[in-house]
Amino acid sequence: MSYRFADRTKMFKTSAIREIGGIIQRKGSDVISFAGGNPHEPYFPTAQIQQAFEKVFASGNASLQYGMTTGYMPLRGAISERVKSKGIQAKPEDILLTTGSQQSIDLLSRVMLSPGDVVLTENPTFLAATQAFESYEAKLVAVEGDKDGMYPEDLEQKLKQHQPKFVYVVPTFSNPDGKVWSEERRAALLELAYKYDTLILEDDPYGDIQFHEEEKYTPIAAMDERKTQVVYTSSFSKTVVPSLRIGWVTGPEAVIKYMSQIKEAADLMSSPLDQQALYYLLRDMDLDAHIRMLSKNYYQHMSIMRDYLNTLDENLVSWVEPKGGMFIWAKVHESINATELLKQVLEHGVAFIPGGPFFVENPQENTLRLNFTHPNPEKIKIGMERLTAAFKQSVKL
Ligand code: PMP
Repeated sequence: MSYRFADRTKMFKTSAIREIGGIIQRKGSDVISFAGGNPHEPYFPTAQIQQAFEKVFASGNASLQYGMTTGYMPLRGAISERVKSKGIQAKPEDILLTTGSQQSIDLLSRVMLSPGDVVLTENPTFLAATQAFESYEAKLVAVEGDKDGMYPEDLEQKLKQHQPKFVYVVPTFSNPDGKVWSEERRAALLELAYKYDTLILEDDPYGDIQFHEEEKYTPIAAMDERKTQVVYTSSFSKTVVPSLRIGWVTGPEAVIKYMSQIKEAADLMSSPLDQQALYYLLRDMDLDAHIRMLSKNYYQHMSIMRDYLNTLDENLVSWVEPKGGMFIWAKVHESINATELLKQVLEHGVAFIPGGPFFVENPQENTLRLNFTHPNPEKIKIGMERLTAAFKQSVKL
């Protein structure tokens, strides 16, 4: 049978992360993994989630019925209230519930991208977003930047040259590199988006996992007073649990309307059962206190990893301490290839993700992403001892 697949299948890729995840699994549970992007299971609010589901079941059989494509209205209302504290004004009707923020990325791609269209991205950037863009045959162009965000000059030049459909950014505690854009760079991106009539896709699943409460990071969506330029997506995967698969998106009415229409074709609606349970959970649990607990504990996880990295020579490894999120992004001496290093450390029962696959252009093979949220503090210590020893052994100074 010669399957006559659609042209777009030529663009489909398996993520390097999933492949490495498979290798780690085959190695068995003894591997200490800094590779994934998973939250720490002991911190899950499991009992409260169970009670929330019981409340849904107690409310009768109608709660098991099909629901609206746009999502369970009381939950949209609760999200509308929550985002006010971030300065985002979104009415419940302006919020579309999605199957994780990954679906928000996919739906916007369906609405905006024809084959050959350009998306501007950071470099490195979130792999599964680039997978979605490329699956619609878009062309990715990287904008240069530093730890504060994209350089406005390079951004302007690329907006002029490529007339992209949108600019994709993760400005607060990015995946993979954990960075936070400065207020100036956020404002500059928004100004340029106005000037060149381009949308911004602001992906913010980590913004709540913040280590320094006194610091405030304004979402670009909150700066967009005209409410014309920013499609903002976030998720409960990191703050509640990923398996609920509940994300949401808000933005210009015309865009959200098309996204809702095409969601109908994709999956009719995200699980009404899960959405109702999350509604009860948010109603009856202090999610802000839970997020403060997560942030405090993840800061402790990160500090252990940081202290081990601090014992190494600057020549050997450099990184910027993350102010939130789930990852440390490290650059090792250029004589070290992170993929080779991974093979070596896997033999000693440690795993991480080489940074190369996160680059849209000019991959830096001496970079790596370390997740500090999933392993417990004891495992982080053991894993970091092994990893720092391997760094020292591999380097050719
Ligand atoms: N965006 C970024 C930057 C992510 O890191 C992730 C998941 N790791 C997602 C979106 C998707 O998350 P979810 O679909 O679980 O909301």
